[in-house]
Amino acid sequence: MTDIGIKVCKFGGSSLATSADFKVVADIIKSDEERRYIVVSAPGKSNNNEEKVTDLLIKCYDLASKKQDYRVVLDEIKARFKEIIDGLEINFDLDTEFELIDEKCSDGPGKDYLVSRGEYLNARILASYLACSFVDSEGRLMFLKKDVLDDELTDSILFEDLSELKRAVIPGFYGTGPDGNVMTFSRGGSDITGAIVSRAVHADMYENWTDVSGMLMVDPKCVENPKTISMISYSELRELTYMGATVLHEDAVFPARQAKLPINIRNTRFPDDQGTVILPKVPAGVPKHIITGIAGKKGFASITIEKNRMNAELGFGRKVLSVLEEINLSFEHIPTGIDTMSVFVNKSAIVGKEDYIKERIQKEVDPDEIVIYENIALIAVVGRGMVNRPGVAGRIFTALANERITVKMIDQGSSCINIIIGVEEENYEKAVRAIYNEFVK
Ligand code: ASP
Repeated sequence: MTDIGIKVCKFGGSSLATSADFKVVADIIKSDEERRYIVVSAPGKSNNNEEKVTDLLIKCYDLASKKQDYRVVLDEIKARFKEIIDGLEINFDLDTEFELIDEKCSDGPGKDYLVSRGEYLNARILASYLACSFVDSEGRLMFLKKDVLDDELTDSILFEDLSELKRAVIPGFYGTGPDGNVMTFSRGGSDITGAIVSRAVHADMYENWTDVSGMLMVDPKCVENPKTISMISYSELRELTYMGATVLHEDAVFPARQAKLPINIRNTRFPDDQGTVILPKVPAGVPKHIITGIAGKKGFASITIEKNRMNAELGFGRKVLSVLEEINLSFEHIPTGIDTMSVFVNKSAIVGKEDYIKERIQKEVDPDEIVIYENIALIAVVGRGMVNRPGVAGRIFTALANERITVKMIDQGSSCINIIIGVEEENYEKAVRAIYNEFVK
């Protein structure tokens, strides 16, 4: 092979729902010879009345496994693929494929096998349209158990079978389970396949093509028309996704990060948009803004414990946390003062246990006061541009004070790339907007 870079491109279901979508995708692939390995999802919805093919396959499985009539649903799925094949004007023997699926359905099919057929057929159709190789994931992505692959084996098989091919299409979402049958990842798992293939072939870039032009700096439900993040480090991404920002399947980030591989989130409908690049380390001088993004979630509670001279009492924190451990409760943040300690936890995890928690903490550390406050939202303000820059927290406080929002907690992560703020749930959207406007507008 000539010495060109290697890109792995994953196209999501919304990019491959119709024959018109396939043509757009094929143009994107063909416009760059580095786009050698193409991972695909099953057809998504092309309009709101339609269902994702994966959802239809699940429906089909549910009916078939109860020995009910599944054929109407199977026919609907077949019609979706027929539209694609007819529109692309390719020769593809859909009848034989569906006869086989039907046969498996009437025998009581394996769920994962049936549910994976959307990816399988989409990959075969795209490979045929591009006149390139189809390389099945079955027998190549080797699962040890659900969602856990034998990485070494998988990487070596994929490398062996892919590296000499000029271009290949690989179905996302599934592989082979320990029992030798098809096994799928959890929903949205084609992102993971894309990352695994990227790692295995030593790609220079993993392009994840979807229906958004990258990752937004903030949830558009809070801020109208927010800016897109052009570059973000893996550490920043982790902070934002932990706080609810969604871009990729979480498990897709790990293999790419491990391989120190950049991921580029791109929009199939606007292929000229550069999207967001996720990198192990963003080159110096890139952030235009001090912050990279803001994310947050409602649904937290705080347990605040006050005791005079708490600071001098040995083991205080440990005793409080041991009470939470007793009821299997993990904490999110523990900001402390000289005589106070607050533990932020998930609200749903303490509902109904408040009295027990208070009693136990009272017994363990005999505090002056314990207050449990529910209805807290946490907001993460994330940015590598904040490191060594004084006054960021002050600006956040001022922005919130100007909106008359009380800050319940502020906690700076030790990596200095994030500041977490707790506010009352009812102030959440307003607070996010205020912080965004302070740093970005
Ligand atoms: N088709 C599967 C799903 O809808 C996997 C994927 O699209 O990534 O979850």
